[in-house]
Amino acid sequence: MVKVEAENRNRIPFSQRLFWSIFAMFLGFTVCFLLFQYQREREFAQDKLNNVLGNYNYQLFRRTQQTNDINKVVNQFIEDIPQKDLRVTIIDPSGKVLFDNSGIEEFNNHNDRSEVRKARLYNEGFAIRSSGSTGKRYFYSATNIGGYIYRSSLPWDPYTQRVLTINKDFIYFMALMTLIFFFVLSRFTFSIGRTISKLRDFALNVENDRIPQNEYVFPNDELGDISKNIVTLYHRQRKAKDELSMEREKLIKHFQYAKEGFAMFTAEGREILSNILFVQFVNVISDNQIRQSEDVMEVKELEPIRLFLNKNIPNSNRKRKVLRESVTVDKNGKIFLIECILFLDNSYEISINDISRQEEESRMKRQLTQNVAHELKTPVSSIQGYLETIISNPELTDEKRQFFLERCYSQSTRLTGLLRDISVLNRLDEASEMFDLAEVNIPKLIGEIEKECSKDMEEKKISSEIILPGNPTIYGNYSLLYSIFRNLYDNTIAYAGEGIKITVNCYKEDPKYYYFSFSDNGVGISEEHINRIFERFYRVDKGRSRKVGGTGLGLSIVKNGVNFHKGQISAKSSPGKGMTFFFTLKKKI
Ligand code: ADP
Repeated sequence: MVKVEAENRNRIPFSQRLFWSIFAMFLGFTVCFLLFQYQREREFAQDKLNNVLGNYNYQLFRRTQQTNDINKVVNQFIEDIPQKDLRVTIIDPSGKVLFDNSGIEEFNNHNDRSEVRKARLYNEGFAIRSSGSTGKRYFYSATNIGGYIYRSSLPWDPYTQRVLTINKDFIYFMALMTLIFFFVLSRFTFSIGRTISKLRDFALNVENDRIPQNEYVFPNDELGDISKNIVTLYHRQRKAKDELSMEREKLIKHFQYAKEGFAMFTAEGREILSNILFVQFVNVISDNQIRQSEDVMEVKELEPIRLFLNKNIPNSNRKRKVLRESVTVDKNGKIFLIECILFLDNSYEISINDISRQEEESRMKRQLTQNVAHELKTPVSSIQGYLETIISNPELTDEKRQFFLERCYSQSTRLTGLLRDISVLNRLDEASEMFDLAEVNIPKLIGEIEKECSKDMEEKKISSEIILPGNPTIYGNYSLLYSIFRNLYDNTIAYAGEGIKITVNCYKEDPKYYYFSFSDNGVGISEEHINRIFERFYRVDKGRSRKVGGTGLGLSIVKNGVNFHKGQISAKSSPGKGMTFFFTLKKKI
């Protein structure tokens, strides 16, 4: 990694490489062009001078044909032309110099001179070289006229050199072009380079999982458009991925918190996903403990599921539907519903639901209905019996009639109480949101109850001690809070005995809850009843309860009332040692 980074640092940026390679190509091309053009220009200049001298050669030939005094003709000719230092040589077909005006007497054979050789081959030729005879440098131009070579030459002096100077404008032009190209190319590659380095920066961020925060701005060109598209595509894909993983997360959370055991497997039986309850439930069902969800198929209670999978997975048919199989297992006091769903790709899920509670609930509902019917039957049939007696015995004394009517009245009062309690419990069960909420001052509420119960308490010589430090006030439902304390008072008055003492104590308070205890030092109840007294229609002593007008619903209402106020209740008692209820109530629900 470190090495790669170091390499990255030493690397020439793409834009610079692009720039230098294009520029080098351009430069190479320009140099070639310059060389070519330079050569052409030189040839052009030399051709021009050669033409002038070639023309002189013809004129000299023509003039020498008219007279024998060549010397005079040549001097005359030089008079007429601007190049006063023109050297004229006439060579015969054998290479012998017939005439030369340079003043040299001795000449060797001239057929080996390069311009002469060219002229013999092509009728004309030129050369720039040092003279073999004079030792000076000349521009020679030779013309072959009927085997005789007429040769005009100019010494390599500043004049000749100026004539042969090539026009350098094209060099300046190319230099200017190169400069312009340099700037245009550098601007162009800089812009590409900027886009590419941005894109690279973006890619690096993506690779290192650093989600780029800053918005990338790309130039308004094709490369910019492509880059923008890449970034947009990335963001879109990232968003989709995030959403997907969030959904997955939710799903996994859902499974973890679900009340059912759940596991998903591949077609080969490898676990994809499972929650804690799955293995826990399988272990409740199985006689042998399993450690991981993948061992589920070894449990013999799940045999039907195993058979179902064995039958359907090998017969894989893409056109088949999603298949289901379910089995109910009654084991260790619990009832489980095990369901298997086989998907089209042969992966499958198994869910295990503990339906014991549902079963229990429906059993309790059935029992409750029976209880309600039974409870209603008693007062109704009593009332019916008394009324029948009155109707069928018209000769009854007023006293007796009054007695039966009073019995009827007390039974109907009991009936009303029963119906009221049932209705409160129903509302708590089905529509607890219907209870109004308000600030309820507990000391004030207990004061009212004490006032209402004072007559009964006096009769039974019941005293009370109220310890409510901090003036507890609850934001809750008045009538439910009233029912909680009222039922506890009524029960103590009804069952605890005479000459006893009630203690209401708010023994603790935390930021959210008040902790209450309600105790008496009366007869108490034996331990086996403690766990059941909060059940609906449960009574310790049925006969006694009915006699004192109890419905068997009082503590059930207390418990539900406490639960409505987000609290918990429990009871402690032993015969002869009184009864204590501990409960919490949330300050604000
Ligand atoms: P009931 O309508 O019969 O009073 P509850 O649900 O209020 O029904 O009470 C259930 C049973 O708990 C009563 O039948 C009674 O035997 C017993 N009980 C309740 N409170 C006390 C108490 N303070 N002392 C003794 N027994 C009690």
